[in-house]
Amino acid sequence: MSESRYDSIRGSVNSNKSHCVEVAVIGAGISGLAVADQLIRAGLSVCVLEARARVGGRLLGSPLDLGASWYWPGEHRVIALTQRLAIDTFEQYRTGDALIDDMAGLQRYPGNPIDVPSYRIAGGTSALAAALTAEFPLGTLQLQQPVHEITSDLHIATREHRWQAHHVVIALPPALAVHSITLPPELPAELIDVAARTPVWMGDSVKVVAHFKEPFWRRDGLAGAAMSRRGPLAELHDMSGPGGEPAALFGFARAASMHADIEIDIREQLIRMFGTRASEPLEVLIQDWSREQWTVPPGTYVLPDYAKFGHRVYQQPALAGRLHWSSTETAPTYAGHIEGALAAAERTVASILGNRVSTT
Ligand SMILES: Cc1cc2nc3c(=O)[nH]c(=O)nc-3n(C[C@H](O)[C@H](O)[C@H](O)COP(=O)(O)OP(=O)(O)OC[C@H]3O[C@@H](n4cnc5c(N)ncnc54)[C@H](O)[C@@H]3O)c2cc1C
Repeated sequence: MSESRYDSIRGSVNSNKSHCVEVAVIGAGISGLAVADQLIRAGLSVCVLEARARVGGRLLGSPLDLGASWYWPGEHRVIALTQRLAIDTFEQYRTGDALIDDMAGLQRYPGNPIDVPSYRIAGGTSALAAALTAEFPLGTLQLQQPVHEITSDLHIATREHRWQAHHVVIALPPALAVHSITLPPELPAELIDVAARTPVWMGDSVKVVAHFKEPFWRRDGLAGAAMSRRGPLAELHDMSGPGGEPAALFGFARAASMHADIEIDIREQLIRMFGTRASEPLEVLIQDWSREQWTVPPGTYVLPDYAKFGHRVYQQPALAGRLHWSSTETAPTYAGHIEGALAAAERTVASILGNRVSTT
């Protein structure tokens, strides 16, 4: 979808009055978009309020993923969504040996014990978000609208506009929601406490993508998979597109290990592990998720309690069935994954449609 279409959507909103919808979804990550998609197709009026100037949240980059990359066998919601949206997928490249880089030096592990079978989305996972929004009616999606307040009677305020909804869906990490949005005072204290202490999945991660002219490591019999105790990248994988085009390696680093000259260290590591042909990447992209205002509240990456994922407080809507939690962190299964974000959306949609039937 073009930027100009978003602009015309924004332009259609009159700031002097509240806009009424049946469902207001806060957050245009994959979970919020999946909720909106299913409710629109069920005939409800929906608006999606998104803080950033783009959709997708932790799905970022095309075709080189700077957020999520993979889905795994058995993640049937992701598989069904790719099929419905006619999005091409391909198998993660795993052929060849893996590397281990530690103080003893570089060792080659035959048969790549690092990568498990997984799949990727042609064009990057952000293609899922783009394809979902392409089907939305004009005016549904409101970009650059950070929500800062939800009142007890479900008025939703951004800096420029107000909305009134019968249901509100909080489709962003719970810890970020309690940090950045003034929530209705009637919400149970336990819910607020659990939300504030629910970690943001991958909120402490830095994803680094090194884009090359060709996947030269494959010709050396290497899978591109590696573990390193010396860093700064702790874990690396082949990130090339279908057929090796575009060619790329990616790695994860800890946010705590970032410093001003980190790119120099990363380039040295790539040469140490993959040889001199790694010395001339076309580009090195560094995405530090811990610094993303609309993903993690300051300091939240240190939250340690992943048992809060899928907590029972998220499974029932609050405020007499009208306020719902729908990010991947709220899913009892596959929490953290795209599949978890879709599972949370599924629960939210069932709850809203069930409530609608029983009240009509
Ligand atoms: C580096 C990295 C690698 C990953 N790898 C994988 C992988 O390989 N496979 C996998 O399955 N998962 C992976 N994940 C996780 C996956 O990206 C997430 O599970 C999924 O994208 C979460 O979607 P979501 O909709 O729940 O949340 P988000 O994507 O975080 O969406 C929340 C949305 O809310 C918006 N927002 C925030 N605050 C406000 C506000 N006040 N008002 C309005 N809007 C707001 C945000 O801008 C964002 O668009 C990875 C994540 C990262 C960061």
